[in-house]
Amino acid sequence: MSTENFSLSFSEALEKAGAGEKPAVDWLVPLLTCSREDESRLFGAADKVREACVGKAVHLRGLIEFSNHCRKNCAYCGLRRDNLEVERYRLEIDALVQTALEAKSLGYHSVVLQSGEDPWYTPERLAEAIREIKAKTELAITLSVGERDENTYRLWREAGADRFLLRIETTDEELFARLHPDDDLSERMDCLRSLKKLDYQLGSGVMVGLPGQTPEMLAKDIIWLKELGAEMIGVGPFISHPDTPLSGEKGGTVEQTLRLVAVLRLVFPYAHLPATTALGSLDDRGREKALETGANVMMPNVTPIDNRAKYQIYPGKICLADDARHCRGCIEGRIKSIGRTMGTDRGDVHRK
Ligand code: SF4
Repeated sequence: MSTENFSLSFSEALEKAGAGEKPAVDWLVPLLTCSREDESRLFGAADKVREACVGKAVHLRGLIEFSNHCRKNCAYCGLRRDNLEVERYRLEIDALVQTALEAKSLGYHSVVLQSGEDPWYTPERLAEAIREIKAKTELAITLSVGERDENTYRLWREAGADRFLLRIETTDEELFARLHPDDDLSERMDCLRSLKKLDYQLGSGVMVGLPGQTPEMLAKDIIWLKELGAEMIGVGPFISHPDTPLSGEKGGTVEQTLRLVAVLRLVFPYAHLPATTALGSLDDRGREKALETGANVMMPNVTPIDNRAKYQIYPGKICLADDARHCRGCIEGRIKSIGRTMGTDRGDVHRK
Protein backbone atom coordinates (compact mmCIF):
# COMPACT_ATOMS: atom_id res chain seq x y z
CA MET A 1 0.00 0.00 0.00
CA SER A 2 1.22 3.49 -0.77
CA THR A 3 1.44 5.98 2.07
CA GLU A 4 0.48 8.83 -0.26
CA ASN A 5 -2.98 9.06 1.25
CA PHE A 6 -1.51 9.92 4.61
CA SER A 7 -0.79 13.60 4.79
CA LEU A 8 1.00 13.66 8.16
CA SER A 9 4.78 13.83 8.10
CA PHE A 10 6.84 11.47 10.23
CA SER A 11 7.57 14.27 12.72
CA GLU A 12 3.90 15.19 13.07
CA ALA A 13 3.01 11.53 13.55
CA LEU A 14 5.71 11.06 16.19
CA GLU A 15 4.44 14.11 18.00
CA LYS A 16 0.93 12.66 18.15
CA ALA A 17 2.29 9.38 19.48
CA GLY A 18 4.40 11.24 22.07
CA ALA A 19 1.35 13.20 23.22
CA GLY A 20 -0.48 9.95 23.95
CA GLU A 21 -3.20 10.62 21.39
CA LYS A 22 -5.79 7.94 20.73
CA PRO A 23 -4.28 5.70 18.01
CA ALA A 24 -5.47 6.55 14.51
CA VAL A 25 -4.54 5.21 11.09
CA ASP A 26 -3.39 8.60 9.83
CA TRP A 27 -0.50 8.83 12.26
CA LEU A 28 0.21 5.12 12.81
CA VAL A 29 0.96 4.47 9.14
CA PRO A 30 3.70 7.14 8.76
CA LEU A 31 5.43 5.62 11.80
CA LEU A 32 5.07 2.02 10.59
CA THR A 33 6.48 2.93 7.18
CA CYS A 34 9.13 5.45 8.21
CA SER A 35 12.45 5.71 6.40
CA ARG A 36 15.74 4.34 7.64
CA GLU A 37 16.80 7.88 8.61
CA ASP A 38 13.68 8.40 10.73
CA GLU A 39 13.84 4.95 12.31
CA SER A 40 16.42 5.96 14.89
CA ARG A 41 14.11 8.72 16.18
CA LEU A 42 11.21 6.30 16.40
CA PHE A 43 13.31 3.69 18.19
CA GLY A 44 14.82 6.28 20.53
CA ALA A 45 11.38 7.59 21.49
CA ALA A 46 10.11 4.06 22.18
CA ASP A 47 13.17 3.18 24.25
CA LYS A 48 12.66 6.29 26.39
CA VAL A 49 9.01 5.41 27.03
CA ARG A 50 10.02 1.85 27.92
CA GLU A 51 12.61 3.11 30.42
CA ALA A 52 10.18 5.60 32.00
CA CYS A 53 7.16 3.30 32.21
CA VAL A 54 8.38 -0.27 32.70
CA GLY A 55 12.03 0.31 33.61
CA LYS A 56 15.22 -1.57 32.85
CA ALA A 57 14.12 -5.04 33.94
CA VAL A 58 13.56 -7.76 31.36
CA HIS A 59 11.06 -10.35 32.57
CA LEU A 60 11.66 -13.97 31.66
CA ARG A 61 8.90 -16.47 30.98
CA GLY A 62 9.96 -20.11 30.65
CA LEU A 63 8.25 -21.48 27.56
CA ILE A 64 6.98 -25.07 27.75
CA GLU A 65 5.73 -26.34 24.38
CA PHE A 66 3.83 -29.28 25.79
CA SER A 67 2.03 -30.66 22.72
CA ASN A 68 2.42 -30.16 18.99
CA HIS A 69 -0.83 -31.97 18.16
CA CYS A 70 -3.30 -29.62 16.55
CA ARG A 71 -6.80 -29.99 15.18
CA LYS A 72 -6.46 -26.83 13.09
CA ASN A 73 -4.96 -26.04 9.74
CA CYS A 74 -3.68 -22.45 9.86
CA ALA A 75 -2.05 -21.70 6.51
CA TYR A 76 1.26 -20.39 7.91
CA CYS A 77 1.84 -22.97 10.61
CA GLY A 78 4.18 -25.96 10.50
CA LEU A 79 2.05 -27.72 13.14
CA ARG A 80 -1.15 -27.61 11.03
CA ARG A 81 -3.02 -30.92 10.99
CA ASP A 82 -2.37 -31.59 7.29
CA ASN A 83 1.39 -31.44 7.74
CA LEU A 84 2.25 -35.12 7.86
CA GLU A 85 6.00 -34.42 8.03
CA VAL A 86 5.79 -33.45 11.71
CA GLU A 87 6.54 -36.04 14.35
CA ARG A 88 3.83 -35.39 16.92
CA TYR A 89 4.49 -35.45 20.67
CA ARG A 90 2.73 -34.58 23.86
CA LEU A 91 3.92 -34.15 27.45
CA GLU A 92 1.20 -35.73 29.53
CA ILE A 93 0.18 -34.20 32.84
CA ASP A 94 3.05 -35.56 35.01
CA ALA A 95 5.71 -34.61 32.47
CA LEU A 96 4.24 -31.17 32.04
CA VAL A 97 4.21 -30.55 35.78
CA GLN A 98 7.76 -31.89 36.07
CA THR A 99 8.96 -29.49 33.35
CA ALA A 100 7.37 -26.58 35.20
CA LEU A 101 9.17 -27.65 38.39
CA GLU A 102 12.44 -27.69 36.46
CA ALA A 103 11.74 -24.17 35.23
CA LYS A 104 11.18 -23.14 38.83
CA SER A 105 14.49 -24.70 39.86
CA LEU A 106 16.26 -22.73 37.13
CA GLY A 107 14.99 -19.52 38.74
CA TYR A 108 11.94 -18.73 36.61
CA HIS A 109 9.03 -16.96 38.28
CA SER A 110 6.67 -17.49 35.38
CA VAL A 111 5.97 -20.19 32.78
CA VAL A 112 4.02 -20.21 29.52
CA LEU A 113 2.20 -23.47 28.76
CA GLN A 114 1.87 -23.52 25.00
CA SER A 115 0.44 -26.12 22.62
CA GLY A 116 -1.48 -26.63 19.43
CA GLU A 117 -5.23 -27.12 19.88
CA ASP A 118 -4.85 -30.65 21.19
CA PRO A 119 -8.15 -32.40 22.04
CA TRP A 120 -6.35 -34.94 24.28
CA TYR A 121 -5.89 -32.05 26.67
CA THR A 122 -9.51 -31.80 27.72
CA PRO A 123 -10.47 -28.84 29.91
CA GLU A 124 -10.23 -31.01 33.01
CA ARG A 125 -6.81 -32.51 32.16
CA LEU A 126 -5.23 -29.10 31.67
CA ALA A 127 -6.96 -27.82 34.82
CA GLU A 128 -5.39 -30.71 36.72
CA ALA A 129 -1.91 -29.76 35.48
CA ILE A 130 -2.49 -26.10 36.41
CA ARG A 131 -3.69 -27.02 39.91
CA GLU A 132 -0.70 -29.27 40.48
CA ILE A 133 1.82 -26.64 39.38
CA LYS A 134 0.11 -24.07 41.56
CA ALA A 135 0.08 -26.43 44.55
CA LYS A 136 3.83 -27.01 44.24
CA THR A 137 5.14 -23.59 43.17
CA GLU A 138 4.32 -19.91 43.12
CA LEU A 139 4.94 -19.71 39.39
CA ALA A 140 2.71 -17.37 37.41
CA ILE A 141 1.05 -19.45 34.70
CA THR A 142 0.31 -18.18 31.22
CA LEU A 143 -1.73 -20.37 28.89
CA SER A 144 -1.30 -20.28 25.12
CA VAL A 145 -3.53 -23.09 23.89
CA GLY A 146 -5.89 -21.47 21.42
CA GLU A 147 -9.63 -21.04 21.14
CA ARG A 148 -11.96 -22.64 23.69
CA ASP A 149 -15.38 -21.79 25.08
CA GLU A 150 -15.88 -19.40 27.95
CA ASN A 151 -16.64 -22.16 30.48
CA THR A 152 -13.30 -23.78 29.72
CA TYR A 153 -11.45 -20.49 30.09
CA ARG A 154 -13.28 -20.01 33.41
CA LEU A 155 -12.31 -23.49 34.63
CA TRP A 156 -8.63 -22.82 33.93
CA ARG A 157 -8.78 -19.39 35.54
CA GLU A 158 -10.33 -20.95 38.66
CA ALA A 159 -7.66 -23.67 38.60
CA GLY A 160 -5.06 -20.91 38.94
CA ALA A 161 -4.02 -19.73 35.45
CA ASP A 162 -3.03 -16.07 35.63
CA ARG A 163 -2.54 -15.03 32.04
CA PHE A 164 -3.59 -16.02 28.55
CA LEU A 165 -1.98 -15.41 25.17
CA LEU A 166 -4.17 -15.64 22.08
CA ARG A 167 -2.82 -13.90 19.02
CA ILE A 168 -5.35 -12.35 16.70
CA GLU A 169 -2.66 -12.42 13.93
CA THR A 170 -4.64 -9.91 11.84
CA THR A 171 -7.94 -8.08 12.25
CA ASP A 172 -8.47 -7.86 8.51
CA GLU A 173 -11.45 -10.10 7.84
CA GLU A 174 -10.39 -11.32 4.43
CA LEU A 175 -6.76 -11.93 5.36
CA PHE A 176 -7.81 -13.68 8.58
CA ALA A 177 -10.15 -15.98 6.61
CA ARG A 178 -7.43 -16.82 4.07
CA LEU A 179 -5.03 -17.80 6.86
CA HIS A 180 -7.45 -19.62 9.14
CA PRO A 181 -9.70 -22.08 7.30
CA ASP A 182 -11.16 -23.40 10.58
CA ASP A 183 -11.66 -20.08 12.33
CA ASP A 184 -13.84 -17.05 12.23
CA LEU A 185 -12.46 -13.63 13.08
CA SER A 186 -15.46 -12.59 15.16
CA GLU A 187 -15.19 -15.81 17.21
CA ARG A 188 -11.48 -15.17 17.85
CA MET A 189 -12.37 -11.67 18.99
CA ASP A 190 -15.11 -13.07 21.26
CA CYS A 191 -12.59 -15.47 22.82
CA LEU A 192 -10.32 -12.52 23.64
CA ARG A 193 -13.23 -10.58 25.14
CA SER A 194 -14.20 -13.59 27.28
CA LEU A 195 -10.64 -13.87 28.56
CA LYS A 196 -10.69 -10.19 29.45
CA LYS A 197 -13.99 -10.59 31.27
CA LEU A 198 -12.56 -13.49 33.26
CA ASP A 199 -9.76 -11.19 34.45
CA TYR A 200 -6.86 -12.98 32.84
CA GLN A 201 -3.81 -10.80 32.25
CA LEU A 202 -4.45 -10.63 28.55
CA GLY A 203 -1.96 -11.13 25.74
CA SER A 204 -2.49 -11.01 22.02
CA GLY A 205 -0.46 -10.07 18.98
CA VAL A 206 -0.02 -10.10 15.26
CA MET A 207 2.25 -11.40 12.55
CA VAL A 208 4.16 -8.92 10.40
CA GLY A 209 4.75 -9.24 6.68
CA LEU A 210 1.94 -11.69 5.90
CA PRO A 211 1.18 -12.06 2.19
CA GLY A 212 -1.32 -9.34 1.29
CA GLN A 213 -0.94 -7.45 4.58
CA THR A 214 -0.64 -3.66 4.35
CA PRO A 215 0.58 -1.02 6.84
CA GLU A 216 -2.98 0.23 7.08
CA MET A 217 -4.10 -3.23 8.21
CA LEU A 218 -1.38 -3.23 10.87
CA ALA A 219 -2.52 0.20 12.02
CA LYS A 220 -6.07 -1.12 12.38
CA ASP A 221 -4.74 -4.10 14.34
CA ILE A 222 -3.11 -1.70 16.81
CA ILE A 223 -6.34 0.27 17.20
CA TRP A 224 -8.28 -2.94 17.83
CA LEU A 225 -5.76 -4.20 20.40
CA LYS A 226 -6.03 -0.85 22.19
CA GLU A 227 -9.83 -1.09 22.29
CA LEU A 228 -9.55 -4.65 23.57
CA GLY A 229 -7.24 -3.57 26.39
CA ALA A 230 -4.41 -5.96 25.56
CA GLU A 231 -1.76 -5.97 28.28
CA MET A 232 0.88 -8.15 26.61
CA ILE A 233 1.47 -7.96 22.87
CA GLY A 234 3.70 -10.35 20.95
CA VAL A 235 4.65 -9.56 17.38
CA GLY A 236 6.88 -11.60 15.12
CA PRO A 237 7.76 -11.65 11.45
CA PHE A 238 5.93 -14.08 9.19
CA ILE A 239 8.45 -16.74 8.15
CA SER A 240 7.33 -19.03 5.36
CA HIS A 241 7.29 -22.75 6.25
CA PRO A 242 8.05 -25.17 3.40
CA ASP A 243 5.38 -27.69 4.47
CA THR A 244 2.47 -25.25 4.38
CA PRO A 245 0.33 -23.61 1.68
CA LEU A 246 2.39 -20.42 2.17
CA SER A 247 5.62 -22.17 1.19
CA GLY A 248 7.86 -19.87 -0.83
CA GLU A 249 6.02 -16.67 0.12
CA LYS A 250 8.15 -13.69 0.98
CA GLY A 251 8.43 -13.23 4.73
CA GLY A 252 8.31 -10.26 7.09
CA THR A 253 11.55 -8.46 7.91
CA VAL A 254 13.36 -7.59 11.12
CA GLU A 255 13.01 -3.87 10.33
CA GLN A 256 9.22 -4.05 9.81
CA THR A 257 8.89 -5.94 13.09
CA LEU A 258 11.09 -3.53 15.06
CA ARG A 259 9.09 -0.56 13.78
CA LEU A 260 5.91 -2.26 14.97
CA VAL A 261 7.42 -3.04 18.40
CA ALA A 262 8.44 0.62 18.74
CA VAL A 263 4.99 1.90 17.74
CA LEU A 264 3.35 -0.53 20.18
CA ARG A 265 5.52 0.80 23.00
CA LEU A 266 4.37 4.34 22.21
CA VAL A 267 0.70 3.32 22.10
CA PHE A 268 0.90 0.91 25.08
CA PRO A 269 3.45 2.51 27.44
CA TYR A 270 2.88 -0.02 30.26
CA ALA A 271 2.36 -3.22 28.29
CA HIS A 272 4.62 -6.25 28.34
CA LEU A 273 6.16 -6.62 24.89
CA PRO A 274 8.27 -9.72 24.21
CA ALA A 275 11.40 -9.76 22.09
CA THR A 276 10.22 -12.82 20.16
CA THR A 277 12.24 -15.88 19.21
CA ALA A 278 11.10 -15.42 15.60
CA LEU A 279 13.11 -12.18 15.52
CA GLY A 280 16.13 -13.99 16.92
CA SER A 281 15.70 -16.60 14.19
CA LEU A 282 16.05 -13.98 11.44
CA ASP A 283 18.87 -12.03 13.05
CA ASP A 284 21.26 -13.21 15.78
CA ARG A 285 20.83 -9.83 17.52
CA GLY A 286 17.12 -9.57 16.67
CA ARG A 287 15.96 -9.96 20.26
CA GLU A 288 18.47 -7.45 21.64
CA LYS A 289 17.36 -5.01 18.94
CA ALA A 290 13.74 -5.47 20.02
CA LEU A 291 14.72 -4.84 23.66
CA GLU A 292 16.31 -1.59 22.47
CA THR A 293 13.17 -0.50 20.60
CA GLY A 294 10.58 -1.01 23.32
CA ALA A 295 10.43 -4.69 24.33
CA ASN A 296 10.80 -5.83 27.96
CA VAL A 297 10.10 -9.58 28.02
CA MET A 298 11.88 -12.71 26.77
CA MET A 299 10.65 -16.26 26.62
CA PRO A 300 13.52 -18.77 26.84
CA ASN A 301 12.59 -22.30 25.87
CA VAL A 302 12.37 -24.84 28.68
CA THR A 303 10.73 -27.60 26.60
CA PRO A 304 12.52 -30.94 27.10
CA ILE A 305 15.27 -31.05 24.50
CA ASP A 306 14.03 -34.22 22.72
CA ASN A 307 10.91 -32.37 21.64
CA ARG A 308 12.23 -28.94 20.77
CA ALA A 309 12.81 -29.58 17.06
CA LYS A 310 9.28 -30.95 16.66
CA TYR A 311 7.65 -27.66 17.61
CA GLN A 312 8.27 -25.50 14.59
CA ILE A 313 5.43 -23.19 13.65
CA TYR A 314 8.02 -21.57 11.36
CA PRO A 315 11.33 -23.04 10.12
CA GLY A 316 14.82 -22.05 11.23
CA LYS A 317 13.82 -21.64 14.86
CA ILE A 318 16.81 -21.08 17.13
CA CYS A 319 17.85 -22.79 20.40
CA LEU A 320 16.68 -26.27 19.37
CA ALA A 321 19.74 -28.06 20.69
CA ASP A 322 20.38 -26.05 23.83
CA ASP A 323 19.19 -27.36 27.16
CA ALA A 324 17.08 -25.19 29.43
CA ARG A 325 20.00 -24.25 31.69
CA HIS A 326 22.10 -23.19 28.72
CA CYS A 327 19.21 -21.14 27.27
CA ARG A 328 18.71 -19.27 30.50
CA GLY A 329 22.43 -18.45 30.79
CA CYS A 330 22.57 -17.32 27.15
CA ILE A 331 19.55 -15.05 27.55
CA GLU A 332 20.92 -13.58 30.77
CA GLY A 333 24.18 -12.74 28.97
CA ARG A 334 22.29 -11.07 26.12
CA ILE A 335 20.22 -8.97 28.53
CA LYS A 336 23.26 -7.82 30.50
CA SER A 337 25.24 -7.10 27.32
CA ILE A 338 22.87 -4.22 26.52
CA GLY A 339 22.86 -2.77 30.02
CA ARG A 340 19.52 -4.17 31.12
CA THR A 341 18.70 -6.15 34.26
CA MET A 342 16.89 -9.40 34.96
CA GLY A 343 13.36 -9.15 36.36
CA THR A 344 13.30 -10.58 39.86
CA ASP A 345 9.57 -11.14 40.30
CA ARG A 346 6.63 -12.64 38.37
CA GLY A 347 6.47 -9.65 36.07
CA ASP A 348 2.72 -9.15 36.37
CA VAL A 349 1.06 -6.60 34.10
CA HIS A 350 1.01 -2.97 35.16
CA ARG A 351 -2.59 -1.98 35.84
CA LYS A 352 -3.11 1.71 36.42
S1 SF4 B 1 -1.21 -21.67 14.66
FE1 SF4 B 1 -1.86 -22.81 16.47
S2 SF4 B 1 -3.99 -23.41 16.02
FE2 SF4 B 1 -3.05 -22.84 14.06
S3 SF4 B 1 -2.29 -24.79 13.20
FE3 SF4 B 1 -0.58 -23.82 14.34
S4 SF4 B 1 -0.67 -24.71 16.39
FE4 SF4 B 1 -2.64 -25.10 15.36
